[in-house]
Amino acid sequence: MTQYVEQLYSGYAQQFSVDEVLFEMDTGHQQLLIFRNRHFGRVMALDGIIQTTERDEFIYHEMMVHVPMLAHGDAKRVLIIGGGDGGILREVLRHQSVEQVTQVEIDQAVIDLCRLHLPEHSQGVFDDLRARIVIADGIDFVARCNERFDIIISDCTDPVGPGEVLFSSEFYAGCKRCLNPGGVFVAQNGVPFMQLDELKTTRRRLSPYFADQTFYCAAVPTYIGGVMAFAWASDNAELRLLPLPVLQQRFSQSDISTRYYTPALHQGAFALPRYLEDALASF
Ligand code: SAM
Repeated sequence: MTQYVEQLYSGYAQQFSVDEVLFEMDTGHQQLLIFRNRHFGRVMALDGIIQTTERDEFIYHEMMVHVPMLAHGDAKRVLIIGGGDGGILREVLRHQSVEQVTQVEIDQAVIDLCRLHLPEHSQGVFDDLRARIVIADGIDFVARCNERFDIIISDCTDPVGPGEVLFSSEFYAGCKRCLNPGGVFVAQNGVPFMQLDELKTTRRRLSPYFADQTFYCAAVPTYIGGVMAFAWASDNAELRLLPLPVLQQRFSQSDISTRYYTPALHQGAFALPRYLEDALASF
């Protein structure tokens, strides 16, 4: 029985039994591995870092999508950066208000292999008529595109390898340029108990472009070391502070059933622990 030991941190790691290797390749952009584990089902890793598992993906994808979508209330055009497994696209397309989703993914192989080996993530949404898939570097796309979006979701890898540019000031400036008035930007921002510098760097680089920049959290078991932080940015703090009855009414009207997201969790997710508030206070 072989073991998969994650390479994200030196001196601290999670380990999975590899009950079956489903696919492995160097895509030219990153080392892609998909394997089956008895506890988490099918697991995908890129460059030695766990990206997503069948068993806990719903937590991450529901919180990364329904929080900005229900806060906005009427998002018609959505931009996804990364997200090659299709989980974010799946959750975005559940919102009836959405007229078009553009997904900019740097690595076609991730989409192809996840469609094949992680079919429950995308559930056919890559063929949805509202979905437009663009194979490109996200930073180049937001620098050049002349379209505008209501929601931008950066579902990228950690800031190493191809994902590094998606944590840069240049990328955030591009996202700001591509957002409609009243738009919302969210991004995966790692596990702050282990990656606190990433959170502080995002605050320093992202907050100059938006009037309201903070984070919200959710615990995703295979993003080890504590809760995961999602970066949030908009020019209207009221979007983040909607009363619970408004969120409840919008969620009910969306007719979307979830396994993790609830309106109360949405509100509570923005309450940060003291050590994160202290770390962000100095900016
Ligand atoms: N949920 C995961 C997490 O939080 O780490 C992310 C999953 S998703 C597989 C990450 C995606 O970002 C991958 O498909 C990868 O190819 C893509 N990606 C990395 N760098 C990128 C870039 N510069 N432009 C567009 N996509 C990128």
